[in-house]
Amino acid sequence: MKPATFDYVVPRTVAEAVGALGDTERTAQVIAGGQSLILEMHLERVQPELVVDINRIPELDGMSVEGDELRVGALVRHAAFESPDAVPGPLGTLLAQAVVNIAHPPIRSRGTMVGSYGWAHPASEWCAVGTALDATVELAGPEGVRSVAAGDYFLGPFLTARRPQELITAVRLPLLGENTGASFIEHRRTHFCFAQAAVGTTLTVDDGVISDVRIGLVNSADRPVRARAAEHALRGAELGSLPSGPRVPDDHPFARAGRIAAEQDAAPLPEPFADVDYKRRIIAVLVARTLREAAKDQRARRAAREGDQR
Ligand SMILES: Cc1cc2nc3c(=O)[nH]c(=O)nc-3n(C[C@H](O)[C@H](O)[C@H](O)COP(=O)(O)OP(=O)(O)OC[C@H]3O[C@@H](n4cnc5c(N)ncnc54)[C@H](O)[C@@H]3O)c2cc1C
Repeated sequence: MKPATFDYVVPRTVAEAVGALGDTERTAQVIAGGQSLILEMHLERVQPELVVDINRIPELDGMSVEGDELRVGALVRHAAFESPDAVPGPLGTLLAQAVVNIAHPPIRSRGTMVGSYGWAHPASEWCAVGTALDATVELAGPEGVRSVAAGDYFLGPFLTARRPQELITAVRLPLLGENTGASFIEHRRTHFCFAQAAVGTTLTVDDGVISDVRIGLVNSADRPVRARAAEHALRGAELGSLPSGPRVPDDHPFARAGRIAAEQDAAPLPEPFADVDYKRRIIAVLVARTLREAAKDQRARRAAREGDQR
């Protein structure tokens, strides 16, 4: 199908873009990478009267480390995160492991992390990672700039706290310290499908004790989920020995945390090829595996540091 007709503007500054979005006479949509919006317009599920193209606004491009945060501008493409060295420390590992699950290279070269926050698909890898890490969403509107925590930003499928006149200028993610390991694992039917479920995990270990753990669940509810009950079960526990085989034994604390995440934190919705019970089983397995991989990553980083000091 062809999209319905619409007006099109190309602002050069954030202020001009916010001015265009503030036009109350017409329903407006921002276009960044266009990898979700154009499809939705062709399917006539979204019919904006005005499309605001932000691709000519230099101040929205680029990512930078600011204090202990990574600030990702609204024009940074998914592909920018494919190398684990693009972002310092374990956060770079987590983002690089997550991004390869997003569609395929042509889409990753156009689509943006911030666009994923604009779209708010429950199966978005970026939205779950940001929710687990307490990311902050920067919104510029007619009254100025405000920041919203990711946990308050996602309100449901394709539903967010963004007001129609607001432009997302950036997403800010906390950098992860050197005692942290990270892992992201996804399960889906074919390589190009959205996730049936996926999990991003970070694990911080101080003197053998799990001092912090973050678990983000993808497509495990009507919005991104931070698995707080599972995190609570692990925080303060001794890390101990790690399971060596491919399977995490049922009586290992990581497997128990997986079951807690699946039963208490997740609220999965059924899909044609994955009913609720199946999804809960996947979530339990993926949580346990990402915890094991994050712990391995944390130990490998520590060993590398100690090797450097010799
Ligand atoms: C075949 C296919 C497979 C895909 N697989 C995946 C997948 O596995 N995982 C995944 O997460 N995504 C997937 N996507 C979606 C893709 O990642 C998109 O790139 C992403 O959802 C949105 O980024 P975008 O920059 O293209 O946004 P656009 O399509 O330009 O915009 C999407 C929405 O966000 C709004 N928006 C964008 N930027 C802003 C902003 N700065 N301020 C306010 N609103 C804004 C737009 O108005 C629009 O409503 C897939 C897409 C396709 C076509």
